[in-house]
Amino acid sequence: MAQIQGLAAHAAGAELLPFHYDPGKLGSQEVEIAITHCGICHSDLHLISNDWGISHFPFIPGHEIVGTVAAVGSETRSLEVGQRVGLGWQSNSCGQCEWCMRGLENLCPDAEGTCVHRNGGYAERVRANARFVIPIPDALDSEQAAPLLCGGITVYNPLRIHGINPSSRVGIVGIGGLGHIAIQFARVFGAEVTAFSTSAGKEQEARALGAHNFVNSRESKAMKEVAGSMDFILNTANADQDWGIYLQSLRPTGTLCFVGVPPSPVCVHAFPLISGQRTISGSPVGSPFRLREMLDVAARHGVKATTELFAMAKANEAIEKLKKNKVRYRAVLAN
Ligand code: NAP
Ligand code: ZN
Repeated sequence: MAQIQGLAAHAAGAELLPFHYDPGKLGSQEVEIAITHCGICHSDLHLISNDWGISHFPFIPGHEIVGTVAAVGSETRSLEVGQRVGLGWQSNSCGQCEWCMRGLENLCPDAEGTCVHRNGGYAERVRANARFVIPIPDALDSEQAAPLLCGGITVYNPLRIHGINPSSRVGIVGIGGLGHIAIQFARVFGAEVTAFSTSAGKEQEARALGAHNFVNSRESKAMKEVAGSMDFILNTANADQDWGIYLQSLRPTGTLCFVGVPPSPVCVHAFPLISGQRTISGSPVGSPFRLREMLDVAARHGVKATTELFAMAKANEAIEKLKKNKVRYRAVLAN
């Protein structure tokens, strides 16, 4: 196989530069995807700056990939060359542990990330185990579908796990790439949805996406007014905040669930957890089965990312815009 061209970070926090690598022989259970679109998830920025201490340089970021199957390994029967497919954060799992056996591959201790110790989707092609390469429903546009492969599944999965339904009052913290999709899925599940945002200018768009209420989280009076009113709060923001205030916004038995990764440890007093039997939880992306389900629900209920399209060569420009919280709401690179 020919070399794969892409854009790589060569050191923590560095600009992406052209880079190519030899992918070697295609594994028997692997698929090679010719990439048409790749979303820019904030996790790519965390990896580029090595915030989590897991990045190996140089590497090509990108894990919200849509494209067409360019080649299939000798044992791969589930996909055909030319088929439109997507690939998210995870590109493989052991397939043998308790969690893989239970269809919870996203909890596999040996899970492999699409762009962690591997080269991802800011490139012309990428490879993954066929189990993690998911057909895209015809009703979804590739540009709007790409962000669902990580951002979409990351918010859909906890809403499903926590049984969100028409009686639920759901808060979404941070209206960015993940948050703007979370509003839509929470609405599809029938919940009353409150958007918590530090950007007053996002109110109209949050309401248009389906939020019933909008709270400016920088206003302490507005935060106090929602005390004791939510059943489930999903934090998608990647910044430190006063988590105690969010716990106080929960009704008894409510859950504050983290998918966004704040830089500091989450410190809260135990008292609101104890007195209202409240829970703090977290959730990593979702299994391949759940990815298929999420894409089907998105196709049938019109959930789609609001995107800003950039040419692949303009990846650095898109990254700078995302760092400034100026993207509305997901930057997508196109080949
Ligand atoms: P994003 O598009 O940058 O959105 C993050 C949002 O957080 C911003 O739009 C902003 O919303 C809010 N925010 C930014 N700075 C803030 C501040 N100083 N204080 C409070 N809120 C602030 O990022 P994303 O792609 O949605 O990713 C969000 C987080 O999820 C990242 O940490 C990413 O690594 C993580 N993630 C986790 C998983 C998982 O499996 N758990 C998967 C994907 C991503 P407002 O303007 O509305 O305040
Ligand atoms: Zn992601």
